[in-house]
Parts: sequence; structure tokens; C-alpha cells
Amino acid sequence: MIPCGKIKKTFRLLLYCSLFFCILNFQSCKPKPKDFKSLRDEFESKGKDLKVLLTKSESIEINCEGSFQLCDISGDKIVMFQKSPSNIALHFENGVINAGGKAKFESGIELYTHKKSFSVNGRNYRGRLKIIPYPESERIAAINEIPLELYLAGVISSEVPARWPDETLKAQSVASRSYALFQANQREDENWHLRTTQANQVYRGIEAEEKKIWRILLKTQGEVLLVQNSEDILPAYFSSTCGGATFKASEVFGGEDFSIVGVECPYCKKSAKKDYLNWPEFEISLSELRKKLVSNYSSMKKLGKIKDIRPAETLKNAGFEKITKVRIICENGDETLRAEDLRLTADPTGIKFRSTVCRLEIRNGTLKAADGKGFGHNVGMCQYGAKQMAVEGNNYRQILKHYYPEAVLERIY
Ligand SMILES: [Zn+2]
Repeated sequence: MIPCGKIKKTFRLLLYCSLFFCILNFQSCKPKPKDFKSLRDEFESKGKDLKVLLTKSESIEINCEGSFQLCDISGDKIVMFQKSPSNIALHFENGVINAGGKAKFESGIELYTHKKSFSVNGRNYRGRLKIIPYPESERIAAINEIPLELYLAGVISSEVPARWPDETLKAQSVASRSYALFQANQREDENWHLRTTQANQVYRGIEAEEKKIWRILLKTQGEVLLVQNSEDILPAYFSSTCGGATFKASEVFGGEDFSIVGVECPYCKKSAKKDYLNWPEFEISLSELRKKLVSNYSSMKKLGKIKDIRPAETLKNAGFEKITKVRIICENGDETLRAEDLRLTADPTGIKFRSTVCRLEIRNGTLKAADGKGFGHNVGMCQYGAKQMAVEGNNYRQILKHYYPEAVLERIY
């Protein structure tokens, strides 16, 4: 006979053992959160491929962690193999691209590397790289081809700080995705779709990626804004600080885009930096401005020296006046430009010449923009406004509805 106490002990032991294995089993069956590498791999197959102009200059330096190959873009044949450590300077010379004196390419270059990343002028990017010559300006352009979601990982924290509320970051990711897709559709047949600056949206490649941003992208992946009653992507413009109200896209950019209307914004005044609401004077010499204008607008070349710049059209809203068009008066004639084009030609980053809500004056051969208010073009979502809306308890759908009241939010993949 087995003593009763011994049976109880054995039973208890069996019970503990099965409990232990149950817990162990439960733990191993729990779905593991996705690591960011697999998320990245997943994003590689999602969304349209974008073409981003990284730089256009006389020479470009590329660098890879391991070895790489440079292939001729027309024939796809390997022209050059570079071993690790592998950096090389490319420059335009006598109508061709000279690769460090070791090889010459006529029609362009595609870079192949097994690391899936590379650097251009010291900044790291994912995706693929193409180098295209522009013989008319004797320059070469570096173009990053990258799937949409991976591109956004390099944009979101370049546009708004990653520490901002999740709902603001989600609203930014939907706006940035829509804007990028719109641009890509508009420039479908061009060599590139987007620049890396505020002229489009700021893209800093791998250094802008953060765990929080990957999570935000996972939550909103494929979500875009559509123009009401259509399948067209909304050109979801946004800017930093509107200062009190936004404007219609057609009023600021011209054209017939009526999908983005102006709205009141009582929010950014509570959250924006003081020098965004009222910024310090910006100045640029007329000779330097002329150089920049001529390189962007060839029609300016024959007009000669700039004598004066005057507002040609202004808009009033929420107690301030925004210049929308400017007349550039030169020695041999005049030219009218969108004020936003003048601003981003004079200051391509848009960081100093912060808006066209300002007073323009010419003094001692210099253009001065004084009494400036707000930061950005004042069309679509106001980013500091979106931050404040989230702080006040609004979710990203409500934020998007406020700044794009006539758009429809939809997930397209
Ligand atoms: Zn605002």
C-alpha cells in the first residue's frame, strides 16, 4: 500500500509541473511584437516607389559599408567594382560622369550593394541609388529610389519632433504620405518626384528613423487623404506655423486646385515658438538673389540686374496680410513670380525667410523681409496647430478633418 501522504505529495508535484509547462507553453504561444527589422522588410514591398532628388551638383561622394558595383544605366552591365572600404567621388567632366578617374559613364549610373543602404555626401539612405548627368548645367544628380513607407520613416521626424504626441505624428504621416503620392503622380515621367527640403518635405534618410516613428507608420500604413467624391490623392500641403488661419491652395499656389480650403487655426498661437510667430528680419543681396533666380528661372537671365521687388498680389486673413505674388523689376524688363517661389529661391531651406506674411523692402542693394509672421506657406495642416489639437485631446482623424475639411481619409493598401 502506498501511504496516503505520499500520494498527495506526488499529486501536488504533478500539478505544479503541469502548471509550470502550461505557463511556459502560454508564454511561447504569445505573439511576439514585430521587431523593426522585419517591419522594415515588410515595408519594402508596400507602397509606390518614389524617386527623391538627394543632390544636384558638380561632384558627389558615395560611400558603402561593404563593396559595391557601379552599373551603366542603359546597358545594365557592370562597369566598375569597388572593394571595401568603398567610397568614391563622382564628377561631371567633358559630357560624362567620371568615377574617381577609374571609369566613365555616359548615360548614368546605378549602384548595387548587398547592404541595402549607402551614403551620399555623408548622409545614409535606404533603397537604391541612381546618378544621372545633366549636361546642360554640367552637373550630376543623385536620385534615391525608395518604397513609400521607408521614405516616410526618413520624413516624419524631420518634419515634426518624434517626441510630439502620437496623434500629431499620425496626422503628419497621413499628410506626408498623401503629399508624396500626389507629387509622384504629378511627376510620373520625370527623373525625380521630390526634393529633400521644405520645397517639398524634409527627408533625412536613415538618421531620421526612430522606433516610435516605425510604430506610427505601422498604425497608419496605407492611409491617405482623397479629394471628396473622387479617387484622386489630395495634395495634402502642410506648414509649420500658420499664425491664426490657413489659406486656400489656389490662392497661394495659383492654379485650379480647390480641394484645400482655408480654415481658422486658434491652436498654433498656444504652442508655437515665439520666433516662429514673429521671426527676425531676413536679408539677401540683390546680386546673390539674381544668381539664384537665374539658376531656377532661365527667363530671368536676359532681364539683367534687379532694381526693385514689389508685392503684386496680397491676401488678408485673420488680421494679417500675406504676399502671394511679387513683381521683380529689372534693368531690361519685369517678371512676376509666386511669392513662395521667391522665398524658397532666396532661402531654399525656408528656415530664415520663414513666410511671405512680411514687408519687403530694398535697401543698399539688399532685399529685406521684415515684420515677418508665421513659418511656412500657410496652406493645409498647421503643424504646431496639430500639436496643440492633440494636446487638447483630439485624435489624428479629427486633426486631419479640421485642416482638410473637404478631404476623405481612406486606406489604399
Ligand atoms: Zn496654426
